[in-house]
Amino acid sequence: MAKQVLSISGGKDSTAMWLLALERGADIHQVVFADTGHEHPITYGYVDYLESKLGPVKRVKADFTNRIAHKRWVVQTKWRKDGVSEDIIESALEVLQPTGNPFLDLCLYKGRFPSTKARFCTQELKLEPIETKAFAPIIESGDGVVSWQAIRKQESAARAMLTEREHTIGVVHAYEVYRPILEWAVDDVFAMHRRHGIMPNPLYEQGMSRVGCMPCINSRKDELFEIARRFPAEIGRVAEWERLVGLASKRAESSFFKHDDTMGEGIREVVEWSKTARGGKQYDLFKINDDVPMCSSLYGLCE
Ligand code: SF4
Repeated sequence: MAKQVLSISGGKDSTAMWLLALERGADIHQVVFADTGHEHPITYGYVDYLESKLGPVKRVKADFTNRIAHKRWVVQTKWRKDGVSEDIIESALEVLQPTGNPFLDLCLYKGRFPSTKARFCTQELKLEPIETKAFAPIIESGDGVVSWQAIRKQESAARAMLTEREHTIGVVHAYEVYRPILEWAVDDVFAMHRRHGIMPNPLYEQGMSRVGCMPCINSRKDELFEIARRFPAEIGRVAEWERLVGLASKRAESSFFKHDDTMGEGIREVVEWSKTARGGKQYDLFKINDDVPMCSSLYGLCE
């Protein structure tokens, strides 16, 4: 028999999907949250809130312990053979230890951050842990899995091409994908929260258009500006990760956002760029002189 498994992110769409499943009386087998280690603390708190209101959540995390051990071997053998300096090798070995934070460990192992062109993070930090730690045990005990995914066509041109149901082959097993809110508009999503008395993730009242990795490698200029002025600790954390991942890299440097001459290199430089007007050379005085509003929502949640 196929078991219904819902993937949630702590964002508005997956919360609405969970509420829809409850409204329909669906036989929910499991609700799963893939912890990337790079979420905002408010999102972790929000997942706890959902659990207290709606039901248990299984949290899964990718583990890179074995791959980091292999990377240490590569550094000690192949890097040396390739003539990499002993200083770089020594620094890399010092930081190449599993930290237990999936995002950081993935980047230490790869010696780089993901990018829009090499977006290995979604596969490694979300899809694979969900498939291997939530779906695989169900399938291996003889049942099938229907994976509920909170994707909406309005989110992007690529998502507009998706179908409501699809059979897919995962990293270990095949399963069925079900996208029940594919045709929904964003207003439907918030209406669902209101109907059930569930507050949306508070980040939507703090200027965020999306929740999830904080920041995401795909963050736009304005999003990064908003993140940096409201949540400087997240920028500080990523700046420290840049230092560590740089040490684990053969080139001895690594930046969170792909290097671009107009933006600068490290995340702190990119944050400075996010304060500039179009053209990227002069500060946007409206932006930098603006007080941070207590409530600001791109979805009209403050009205
Ligand atoms: S939210 Fe962004 S950074 Fe996080 S896994 Fe997805 S694409 Fe990668």
